[in-house]
Amino acid sequence: MTVPAPLRFEGVRFAYPNGEFRLRAPDLCVERGEQVALVGPSGCGKSTVVHLAAGILVPQAGRVLTLGEDLAAQPDEARRRLRLERLGLVFQEFELLDYLDALENALVPRLLAGHSPTAADRERAHELLGVLGLDAVATHLPAALSRGERQRVALSRALLTEPELVLADEPTASLDPERAAQVLELLSTQCRARGTALLLVTHDRSALGHFDRVVDLKEELQP
Ligand code: ADP
Ligand code: MG
Repeated sequence: MTVPAPLRFEGVRFAYPNGEFRLRAPDLCVERGEQVALVGPSGCGKSTVVHLAAGILVPQAGRVLTLGEDLAAQPDEARRRLRLERLGLVFQEFELLDYLDALENALVPRLLAGHSPTAADRERAHELLGVLGLDAVATHLPAALSRGERQRVALSRALLTEPELVLADEPTASLDPERAAQVLELLSTQCRARGTALLLVTHDRSALGHFDRVVDLKEELQP
């Protein structure tokens, strides 16, 4: 049996309920282990594509196959479970829980999936924090971390479950150029090391050298 591509869009059309923004998405495909950058002007629909890929939004027509699954055809609980257990998500504003320390934030996918973190989970979280240069701040709350550190905690959370696909929506947009480059480098390296596919929205043209492929959403949009 052939293993499905981590992400495939097939004839996807989407509109928000107010009908003001309509997207005819390109037939995007991210292959196993591939790193794809999604670029395009503000408002062209990049975040919408990421939310469709994660099954947070569902298309009105066509199919989004995420890890081979048509999430729109599945109940909310199945979608939620796939997001928690098989996808890694990273957003611009980190979305850390203020009352959990860095290590606990890294373990959030396990907590949300209803599991008490096992010793192996904790070991993995520690290992990731170490790789991401956060050893010294593992017990710090987000308020005591720099922005770059907070985003690296968000990366460790996204990578905790060894996801098959990481979706990242402008994860470096709120960081200074040096921190942005560091976060991107770490994310790219960690995904390569594990054969994890990566779809990353970025404004940062200097970062594009990391990627196997760049998709300009504006150019690819169907009329
Ligand atoms: P990008 O990430 O490329 O900046 P988005 O996907 O966030 O673009 O947004 C695409 C368009 O959809 C924009 O015009 C935006 O205003 C609109 N939009 C985004 N979210 C919503 C929403 N929840 N309801 C209605 N319109 C939205
Ligand atoms: Mg966006």
